[in-house]
Amino acid sequence: MAFDFDLFTIGAGSGGVAGSRRAAAHGARVAIAEDRRVGGTCVLRGCVPKKLLIYGVHFAEELEDAKGYGWSVEGARLDWAKLIAAKNRETDRLNGIYVKLLRDSKVEVLDGRARIVAPNTVEVAGRRVTAAHILIATGGHPERLPIPGAELAIDSDQALDLAELPRRIAVIGGGYIAVEFAGIFRAAGAEVVQVIRADRVLRGFDEEVRAYLQGEMAKKGIRILGGSEPARIDRAGDGFTLTLKDGRRLDVDQVMMATGRRPNTRDLGLEAVGVTLNKAGAIAVDEWQATTVPAIHAIGDVTDRVNLTPVAIAEGRGLAETLFNGNPVRMDHGCIPTAVFSQPPVGAVGLTEAEAEQRGAIDVYRAVFRPMKHTLSGRDEKTLMKLVVDRASQKVVGAHMVGADAPEIVQTLAIAVKAGLTKRDFDRTVAIHPTAAEEFVLMREPVKRG
Ligand code: NDP
Repeated sequence: MAFDFDLFTIGAGSGGVAGSRRAAAHGARVAIAEDRRVGGTCVLRGCVPKKLLIYGVHFAEELEDAKGYGWSVEGARLDWAKLIAAKNRETDRLNGIYVKLLRDSKVEVLDGRARIVAPNTVEVAGRRVTAAHILIATGGHPERLPIPGAELAIDSDQALDLAELPRRIAVIGGGYIAVEFAGIFRAAGAEVVQVIRADRVLRGFDEEVRAYLQGEMAKKGIRILGGSEPARIDRAGDGFTLTLKDGRRLDVDQVMMATGRRPNTRDLGLEAVGVTLNKAGAIAVDEWQATTVPAIHAIGDVTDRVNLTPVAIAEGRGLAETLFNGNPVRMDHGCIPTAVFSQPPVGAVGLTEAEAEQRGAIDVYRAVFRPMKHTLSGRDEKTLMKLVVDRASQKVVGAHMVGADAPEIVQTLAIAVKAGLTKRDFDRTVAIHPTAAEEFVLMREPVKRG
């Protein structure tokens, strides 16, 4: 049967765009459907605008720190609306670049919501098209807790577009998004209270990293209420009251919910064609991104495996290689580095201490120090670095950092960890002095052995 396209992608986010362009580069005829703006969560509602806001608000600390170096910086203040406008100009520019990239790659862009009506047929904006392969790359959306007044809260989409900086804000959740936004609002000058049901932020990260970051966040003035669960949100004057299950009440100008994201699987026609969802409501796929229907594939957050942009991009490109270049690529989800753009930020790759301990005897190396910058700035902020080493093989199986530039440093370190280098390889590496990163090659004595 002759199809209209070789590949039809639903969702023009990072993963969908990367997979479509790679397929087109290999000569496939490709179309992509998007019902919002081309660019997706990372570019328009996530990583990129979030990081721009972090750059924007972080000047507050830089200016404060500059005083210790002889600068006079009185009178500096942040115009929040200008920051949001500047951020929007950049996301608009990136949206344009994505549209152009698709056009230049000869990928046809269809505006509108796509729905699968048969295993090789998609309907979008009243038009039916057929394709040899369909790729679902629809991402996810913020999930709200089912509590009374949940609709009064903002989620991360809205938090990125607040016209005014709230004076007092409650952030519900302790994951990536909650921690990052608590840091943004605090650095911008808001009073921030973070409500988390666990004792510590960032479940899944190394326990020491969690405790350390929480301590540093508290030093910056973020009030973290551990073991707390929200019960309801009510309007109170111009603001809101967030009531916790234990009866405590928090009066704030804004409540933000950052309690996880859900895969976008609704109204795609999945049930009718037999695409199976897993227990978590995500599209079930194997390591080749194949769903339960042979011609239909899925990548990225809609599969809820490792919900990070570079992972979706790798999955999309890998699929295009497999389908259109005779180069089967199985996605390797092991040892994926990650960062949390908290203040200070976190970088991590490989196993946590607890995970490594479950697999066998380990050595743990740790460095805690005051960064050189703060000798003159006077800021009370320390950096934590940690290496987890498998005792028998001496391979470095985990590297963790909380401190300035952690994401930049750990990205490079991830090559060594992914390559399976040993502690001795780290020891043989000459330091670059004076840097913070050099501590990763200067840790001599384990703090925990065997
Ligand atoms: P996460 O899954 O990271 O965190 C969800 C948070 O909500 C957790 O703290 C969780 O608590 C809490 N929570 C969940 N259910 C409830 C409940 N019923 N009551 C109270 N609290 C609850 O989700 P995020 O929304 O922060 O981020 C989604 C994903 O997006 C991340 O997992 C990550 O993959 C990606 N992301 C990556 C970023 C990066 O790379 N820098 C940045 C932003 C997002 P508990 O800890 O107790 O489970």
